Amino acid sequence: MKSCLVVDDSKVIRKVARHILEGLDFTVREAGDGREALACCEETMPDLVLLDWNMPIMGGIEFLRTLRQRSFATQPKVVFCTTETDAAHIRAAIDAGANEYLMKPFDRETLEIKLEIAGVM
Ligand SMILES: [Mg+2]
Repeated sequence: MKSCLVVDDSKVIRKVARHILEGLDFTVREAGDGREALACCEETMPDLVLLDWNMPIMGGIEFLRTLRQRSFATQPKVVFCTTETDAAHIRAAIDAGANEYLMKPFDRETLEIKLEIAGVM
């Protein structure tokens, strides 16, 4: 079974994402901000991180840069999920090390397509 860490400060979005991902046979953990997410990765590295942009304490970009700079034995695939979908934001996400970019709100079908592109399905 593949594992996913859902990182979003919205409990509702985490719940929706969990529901979809469990339907796709992922085991799911949740984090409410980037710092919490890093702690989760240090504990057990997931196969996939679904990442929000705007979060308190540590946002998505800072989390992603930190994650990619660390010398972990494995690195997860990271899919950014956000309402910020202009070219500059997408560019920044890719530069920081994102594998894919997904517009919020998303449904199961859209997420599944992005996961296939990212190579986690
Ligand atoms: Mg947010």
